[in-house]
Amino acid sequence: MESQKISLSERVQQVKPSPTLAVDAKAKALKAAGADILNFSVGEPDFDTPEHVCEAGKEAIDARFTRYTPVPGIIELRQAIVERIATDHGWQYEPDQVQVCCGGKHGLYNMCQALFGPGDEVLVPAPYWVSYPPMIQLAGATPVEVPLAEEKDFDLDASILDKYVSDKTRGIIINSPSNPTGSVFSKETLAAIGKMAIERNWVIITDDIYDTIVYDEEPLPHILDVDPRLKEQTIILNGVSKSFAMTGWRIGYSVGPKHIIGAMNKIQSQSTSNPSSIAQKAALAAVRGPQDFPVMMKEAFLPRRDYILKELASIDKVTCVVPKGAFYVFPNLSAYYGKKFNDKIIDGSVAMADYLLEEALLATVPGAAFGADAFVRFSFATSMEIIEEGMKRLKKALADLS
Ligand code: PMP
Ligand code: GLU
Repeated sequence: MESQKISLSERVQQVKPSPTLAVDAKAKALKAAGADILNFSVGEPDFDTPEHVCEAGKEAIDARFTRYTPVPGIIELRQAIVERIATDHGWQYEPDQVQVCCGGKHGLYNMCQALFGPGDEVLVPAPYWVSYPPMIQLAGATPVEVPLAEEKDFDLDASILDKYVSDKTRGIIINSPSNPTGSVFSKETLAAIGKMAIERNWVIITDDIYDTIVYDEEPLPHILDVDPRLKEQTIILNGVSKSFAMTGWRIGYSVGPKHIIGAMNKIQSQSTSNPSSIAQKAALAAVRGPQDFPVMMKEAFLPRRDYILKELASIDKVTCVVPKGAFYVFPNLSAYYGKKFNDKIIDGSVAMADYLLEEALLATVPGAAFGADAFVRFSFATSMEIIEEGMKRLKKALADLS
């Protein structure tokens, strides 16, 4: 074994690798080794990046647009983002209130580094996306989980917020539609959060990465529509990964108060510099061009969502909140915890996901990764054939437990 002579930082010892990416890597390795794995794990659209976007990337290479760009991204892209937001939502921003970065995940990282530090607490409604708590911890701050109830469709019950708030609370992360639940926060919830944020001077991070994938709830309630004053303390996180099936291009963006974007630019200038010049040109074609691609994807996801929900509803003792957006279902499988297969006890979501992978060849993500052990996440951004076969396997696997 290789010696481990050099010690690692305390910071890195606190965080775990991303569990969503870890399960995906495991599923892909098993598949490459010949196993008939059905992959419901990682959340990425199963569509190719649209042709006009790929063309713009190729043109950028042909034109040798291959040098450093300004740290926060090319002005045309920041201008196009500002225009897209004005058209879609009516919110007015300037290009210097936009930072383009290497994927939504990187935007969140820059934000946490620019905003939070030791002694700060940040409210994270749970179930949460796997990277929120580690990002907050990497900034030296403390994530404080606020539980969301399945019975309330994972909307936040603002009346409980007081229990989780202290004089160290610096802000809250909103993700609506949510990964992993697909739930949307109601107008009333957002109004209650907005009121507290104004009174207590919190920063609101609104992760809108799934805002083009909304099934039932149009128009989507948004914190910025609650009270115009919130614009001064809200930072939007978005990107083209989900809306234009561009997960590998690594382009995200943040939009918010100039001084916060400026601070994030300082971090970006000392870490990654600009995101890929070629990917920026491709993202420009996505943001400025026709917006029918996200609509087409959403229309393709809807029958898959409805099918998977119908199948889950037919399984004894399984409950599942209807996702109003995004492409995940988050069924509660806890009625099967405590049961056994070949003397191996299923004692929680990690054991359940392991069992489903080993015995049913189904790759899923355990709810524990999202702070909710009763559940297991399935991404339905995969083909109907895989979903049909996957649901058959899930039913059999659950029935085989005793
Ligand atoms: N926020 C949420 C809720 C997500 O699910 C993702 C997906 N990885 C991201 C942000 C970041 O997306 P990306 O870094 O791929 O642009
Ligand atoms: N957001 C996706 C997911 O939750 C991608 C994986 C990741 O970035 O963690 O599966």
